Amino acid sequence: MSAPVPVTEDLLRSMPLPRHQEGEDKDERGRVLVVAGSVEVPGGALLTALGTLRAGAGKVRIATCRSVAVPLALAMPEARVIGLAETQAGGIAAEEAEPLARGAAEADAVVLGPGMIDTQAAAALTAGILAGSADAGVPFVLDAAALRGLSAGETPRSLAGRLVITPHAGEMATLLGMERKAVLADRLAAARRAAAAFQAVVVMKGGCSYIATPDGSAWACDRGNVGLATSGSGDTLAGIIGGLLARGAPPVAATLWGVFLHGEAGARLARRQGLVGFLARELLAEVPPIMAGLA
Ligand code: AMP
Ligand code: MG
Repeated sequence: MSAPVPVTEDLLRSMPLPRHQEGEDKDERGRVLVVAGSVEVPGGALLTALGTLRAGAGKVRIATCRSVAVPLALAMPEARVIGLAETQAGGIAAEEAEPLARGAAEADAVVLGPGMIDTQAAAALTAGILAGSADAGVPFVLDAAALRGLSAGETPRSLAGRLVITPHAGEMATLLGMERKAVLADRLAAARRAAAAFQAVVVMKGGCSYIATPDGSAWACDRGNVGLATSGSGDTLAGIIGGLLARGAPPVAATLWGVFLHGEAGARLARRQGLVGFLARELLAEVPPIMAGLA
């Protein structure tokens, strides 16, 4: 296997993000559906949805637990927030998969998973949404508990080429049925294995993030720093990638750009505020100027 290609500014300039015409409206700039959050972690949905808009998408809808929908809508006046039936554990009920699959089919990208703490319900919900919208051609980002909705070898064929997954080492271990220690021993190999098994663009998150695709290609991004190891950080990454997908960037480009923007945002905050102690939500305002600088 060849060594991973470093994710550099020059590489990103060779795969530019879509340019938007002056007359374009917000629908044309991309509509994202974020299915995320729980009674205990509504902030996962907030950070993800903010990430989609900071990456330049035009419109975001959040689908989350009914009891947190109103506070979330107030916390993010830019979003439309839909309240869904809840489980006893405070997650989104799996029976919502059918209407959500219809909503997914109307979006330009879907992000599923951040802040979902009822893992069983998240698995069933994700599997139901993927199956119910498989023919719609919409790209998906699966993160956190939504990763449990995937089973190797059963990724719907029509999803191949438009699925991005963003596990950290623990989530990767669950996905591949391995020990976390074994994943950490060779994270690049784990990324490649998952890309082949799930026919997905994989981000193996960590100090250096590895990106792998089912054809065996791989990239490495070491832009970030230890300050990014902070609560909610991965949620913002999933949102940024989802926003870029909704704008029309192909899955590999959206993923490489997203990982770089997230890491570089951390690098800029660390220079100004110190290496640790910045907040995940603070990463997001860094994203537009970094994107503009690479245009
Ligand atoms: P999560 O664990 O889902 O919140 O995601 C954490 C995010 O922070 C991922 O994008 C990781 O790649 C990044 N990250 C975590 N630890 C480090 C580190 N030591 N150096 C650079 N990036 C990191
Ligand atoms: Mg996470």
